[in-house]
Amino acid sequence: MPIKVAVNGYGTIGKRVADAILKQKDMELVGVTKTKPNFEGRLAVNKGIRLFTTSQDRLKAFEDAALKVQGTLEDLLKEADLVVDCTPGKVGASYKPLYEKYKIKAIFQGGEKHDVAGFSFNAVCNYKDAIGRDFVRVVSCNTTGLCRSLYAIDRIFGIKKARVVLIRRGADPAEDSKGPINSIVPDPVTIPSHHGPDVQKVLPHIDITTMAFAVPETLMHVHVLNLELNNPATEGDVLDVLSRYPRIKIISAQDGVDSTSTIIEYARDMGRARYDLPELVVWKESVKSFGKEIYLTQAVHQEAIVVPENIDAIRAMTRLTEDPEESMRLTNESLGIGR
Ligand code: NAD
Repeated sequence: MPIKVAVNGYGTIGKRVADAILKQKDMELVGVTKTKPNFEGRLAVNKGIRLFTTSQDRLKAFEDAALKVQGTLEDLLKEADLVVDCTPGKVGASYKPLYEKYKIKAIFQGGEKHDVAGFSFNAVCNYKDAIGRDFVRVVSCNTTGLCRSLYAIDRIFGIKKARVVLIRRGADPAEDSKGPINSIVPDPVTIPSHHGPDVQKVLPHIDITTMAFAVPETLMHVHVLNLELNNPATEGDVLDVLSRYPRIKIISAQDGVDSTSTIIEYARDMGRARYDLPELVVWKESVKSFGKEIYLTQAVHQEAIVVPENIDAIRAMTRLTEDPEESMRLTNESLGIGR
């Protein structure tokens, strides 16, 4: 019997997670919620997705907009084994008592604090620790990207110290009201940014300090990593290790993929839906070795990178498989990751 999954909050992350669930043979999407009637809700219904709204008082707005909903979030939760909460940051925590009331497992996103679930997830790093859990938080896009490359490098060479500068996209493409539009904003101006401590929720032994800046761009984040290793590695060694992971894509600036916009053009030309790139992207030419000191530059498609992690978290929590490799293989194949 497939695991029945609900998605609360059908926005940037929610609609991608919902589409990914539809592609899994061992999962069934029982429905999604929207707070207000809009084109996303209409398109969901056109796709055959069952639409719900968050509470009784919102039903009328959907009726007035002639957008049919099946009921409220509480009706949806009664049908599901697990809910993926994709509501805006810090809103998810307010739903936890409701998920507890319906005795339903829940996945929260990176906009929530670690404490909401007491466990922060990244598939390659700690899948087994998520097995059977009732509450899991899938870490943010930036933390997911960092966890992937740091884990891969640490496993083979050992990371003594990681120092990272994050250049954050100011907003997602459809977020008209966010910025900056003419500034580079230290985010925050103090050190460290929250990303380093967040990585340590998944990889507690990594000595990491992060600094972040928000810039007027909507496509991707870029991270510059400076790593001190326990054992020396050449550029070739590092690239060889990273290329073993399907969720890390090595690209070449020499091939013309030399900016976030050309990475996105590449994803478009690959025919990726919504130009999504769930893979962490590493520029081959950016990897530089000074023996035990390594530099590399990586890019994160913020809208897509956490999607496969949510799918693996569902499998771990519901024990669909206790084998991380098996789960990641199924997820990767279904989403075309690594192709
Ligand atoms: P979003 O604003 O695009 O989508 C949130 C959805 O939830 C919208 O459909 C909104 O209408 C709905 N919503 C608002 N209030 C609600 C409520 N009270 N109850 C139910 N639904 C409600 O947000 P997003 O970018 O998809 O972010 C969702 C979560 O994912 C956040 O925790 C965020 O930090 C995290 N995240 C976002 C990104 C990203 O780049 N967008 C990347 C990784 C993780």
